[in-house]
Amino acid sequence: MPELPEVETVRRGLEPAMEGARFTKVDIRRGDLRWPLPKDFAQRLQGKTVTSLGRRAKYLLADLSSGDVLLMHLGMSGSFHVFRQAGGKALGRYHHERAQHAAHDHVVFHMSSGAIVTFNDPRRFGSMKIVARDKLEAEPLLNGLGPEPLGNSFDAAMLARACLGKKTSLKAALLDQRVVAGLGNIYVCEALYRARLSPKRLASTIADRTGAPNARAEHLVDGIKAVLTDAIEAGGSSLRDHKRPDGDLGAFQHHFRVYDREGKKCPTPGRRGTIERIVQNGRSTFYCPVCQK
Ligand SMILES: [Zn+2]
Repeated sequence: MPELPEVETVRRGLEPAMEGARFTKVDIRRGDLRWPLPKDFAQRLQGKTVTSLGRRAKYLLADLSSGDVLLMHLGMSGSFHVFRQAGGKALGRYHHERAQHAAHDHVVFHMSSGAIVTFNDPRRFGSMKIVARDKLEAEPLLNGLGPEPLGNSFDAAMLARACLGKKTSLKAALLDQRVVAGLGNIYVCEALYRARLSPKRLASTIADRTGAPNARAEHLVDGIKAVLTDAIEAGGSSLRDHKRPDGDLGAFQHHFRVYDREGKKCPTPGRRGTIERIVQNGRSTFYCPVCQK
């Protein structure tokens, strides 16, 4: 399942194809994604220019010249592919790759940039929705989300306040999208490892009684920001069906320090720990019991 760094990687891949470009044609092959696409979906996009392509948590937000915003979510298995029409060679490749993927290409954007952007999603948990820009604050998909972990306002004080009095584990707190937006199982495990904090520790122990942050909160915020920044730089992870949106499939791999490394040696030099897997709230947690306290 794509997490924030993968979505940011997709955004960066789509930006040159979509930003500043007009939708010349929108093909809907299958409108029943996680929710059905609205009847006027293609009509509200065609002829409109993408003025900017942003991201909020795991949503891509394309601002349109009409005052609408196109919200896109990759779900479990969604991916975008960008194909270039110009040049005979590229066109050939376009047909070749399309033939492999066409069955799950549900939405196809033809852009005035010459790019064809396809949304491919075998499991159809992905979604698209058009919302008026001035109604975005009230949008239920977005308005319960906590702070962006890479935003300037997300700091130890904010995280400590959000964890104050929480009776859950630190792992569960970080997965709560109201505490911090966009983190999933993989990067929560990796951030806790970098912060040297046990995933089993009570969330409230990163704050004092008044809610002020302690050193653990500082380390945790640093760990979250560092792991996300590194992953974005590495181009996101290639786990499962996720693909980078440049037509170059499965070209990147990201190495995790603890995630999915049960039984392997702890990667911190000079440490003798072994990565363990436990189950918390029905999901696997990977951590080093020697480093993480
Ligand atoms: Zn260790």
